[in-house]
Amino acid sequence: MSSSSHDSGRIVILSSPSGGGKTSLTRNLLALHKKDGWTFSISVTTRPKRPNEREGREYYFRSREQFAEIRSQGRFAESCKVHGHLYGTPRDSIESVCKAGGVILLDVDVKGAFKIKKAFPQAVSIFILPPSKVELRRRLKSRGTETREQLGIRLDRSLAEMKLYKRFDYTVINDNLDVATKLVDSIIHSFKARKKSSDFKRIDRIIG
Ligand code: 5GP
Repeated sequence: MSSSSHDSGRIVILSSPSGGGKTSLTRNLLALHKKDGWTFSISVTTRPKRPNEREGREYYFRSREQFAEIRSQGRFAESCKVHGHLYGTPRDSIESVCKAGGVILLDVDVKGAFKIKKAFPQAVSIFILPPSKVELRRRLKSRGTETREQLGIRLDRSLAEMKLYKRFDYTVINDNLDVATKLVDSIIHSFKARKKSSDFKRIDRIIG
């Protein structure tokens, strides 16, 4: 399917460096809009499952061999290596939202965001920034899920990624989670109100 042949759905790319806060923000948005049919794109990953995660909720956890198989079948809209593990965005859920309508939120790293935007130019990309480097360091540390070395790698990478903010459609500074959630929510609502080709037919009828 060409990326522009169906445009009734809305693809929202949420990206941030590690520690930017996009996971909590995405969770908030989904809680607010579950009844409106907003969905989350559940990625496939080779990363080991964390204790609080569930298969098919945060991710589909697969072996490297299984991941390679899915990729070779062309079933990923994009895939990337992040912190030594593979992550891929399934193509089918994005395409069904494109056809059927609704909103799909994608929580991907910066490289993944650029790849999705290239494949689906009608998507909106939103970059979430932590309010400062000090806060970024604090957030990364407070997760307690990484070794000191992994933490250093994540921090360096986050700082490099933050420099790419201009390539996103919007940048939101996540100083306060509730305020940032409201801001992203309003960006998505205005994105939803943007005209699409199916609207033009209706508008043509009104003015014609
Ligand atoms: P975590 O392992 O901490 O859940 O996620 C690590 C990073 O991988 C995060 O920046 C997350 O947004 C990113 N990520 C999750 N799923 C995907 C995906 O399907 N594609 C890409 N490119 N990045 C992903």
